[in-house]
Amino acid sequence: MTSFKSFKFVFIFCLITQLSAQKQTITQASVLKLTGQCNDHSNDKKFDLIEDVAIAFAKMKQAAADDGIQIKIISSSRSFERQLVIWNTKYSQNKKDSLNPTDNINKIIEYSTIPGTSRHHWGTELDLIDAEPMVEGDVLLAHLFEDQGPYALFKKWMDINSNSFGFYLVYTNDIDRKGFKYEPWHYSYAPLSKPFLKEYLKINLDSLFKDKKILGKEYFTEEFIKNYLKDYILDISPKLK
Ligand SMILES: [Zn+2]
Repeated sequence: MTSFKSFKFVFIFCLITQLSAQKQTITQASVLKLTGQCNDHSNDKKFDLIEDVAIAFAKMKQAAADDGIQIKIISSSRSFERQLVIWNTKYSQNKKDSLNPTDNINKIIEYSTIPGTSRHHWGTELDLIDAEPMVEGDVLLAHLFEDQGPYALFKKWMDINSNSFGFYLVYTNDIDRKGFKYEPWHYSYAPLSKPFLKEYLKINLDSLFKDKKILGKEYFTEEFIKNYLKDYILDISPKLK
């Protein structure tokens, strides 16, 4: 009986040690959540966003409307599966166009992320435009937001006001920035996405990709992943780090 009790004690002690060790790294639940593989947080989400983000966005949308700008969401949260479809569709198309694997991957990551690495998995990101001007075709093109473009007034309003609601551009037009191209439509809710990024960096991308059906992943060398992290995941607005 005594030995059973001490065995039980050792077992519980080991369990507690293991759990606290995991906390210093990252929990499996966090990995699933930050890589878009977890759909069980629908309760704390509105419009596919985390509730705090949805509330902040609603306030910003109202303030913009008061100034005559109608903000429209083009894209918010995206699952791993959705990003996988985007990636594999582009990869297959580029392959048909005779691009070699390296050029293929480099072309996709001009604008699209590898599944599991999109900030859109986090519930803190929004692609936004102005709902009023009629624009045919692709609305997420940088030139539409500049100078005399149809979304120039929206962009001007966001430049002045978005930060006060917690929203910041991620992929700025800073000439020294590498990685994903300038996206004047992609905003991030900094109070949550900053700690999420810190947590995200604890994820081992190599093991994340291992059992996934990502086309071209055999070309994700150690060197490629290292540079992808440095130049793509981390070369973002300094306000979000
Ligand atoms: Zn985006």
